[in-house]
Amino acid sequence: MAIERTFSIIKPDATRRNLTGAVNAVIETAGLRIVAQKRILMTKAQAETFYAVHSARPFFGDLVSFMTSGPVVVQVLEAENAVAKYREVMGATNPANAAEGTIRKLFAESIEANSAHGSDSVENAAVEIAQFFAGNEIVG
Ligand code: ADP
Ligand code: MG
Repeated sequence: MAIERTFSIIKPDATRRNLTGAVNAVIETAGLRIVAQKRILMTKAQAETFYAVHSARPFFGDLVSFMTSGPVVVQVLEAENAVAKYREVMGATNPANAAEGTIRKLFAESIEANSAHGSDSVENAAVEIAQFFAGNEIVG
């Protein structure tokens, strides 16, 4: 299996509760390597672009407000099968449905404030990584 990269966000609900290190411990324990990381305040335009696929959904406005409500930590994670692996480590979107030991089961507050984002395909991972990182900011 090939080494892949995926894009991750530690969301504002988690940074607000000082859980960056706790989330990173779950990520690293699962064997994903954090090869890029920075703490930023997402702009409204960045959040709207990032979640454009959901722009017609009823929760879109609230989601953009939430994602810009405080600092986020954007990351690039590397591993074999990183995209699928990180989706598994994060758990289901709704923490009520997330498996034991997953980031969302451990830390999420709600279906919206669910502590983590992870890309859903290798193609989307490349697009999302390029939205937030220059090539020389990623050190594998
Ligand atoms: P995932 O982050 O698991 O890929 P989606 O792509 O479906 O999930 O949704 C993107 C984000 O939008 C979710 O992580 C969550 O923060 C928010 N979201 C999804 N569904 C809802 C919902 N029904 N109500 C409020 N927020 C939602
Ligand atoms: Mg998604």
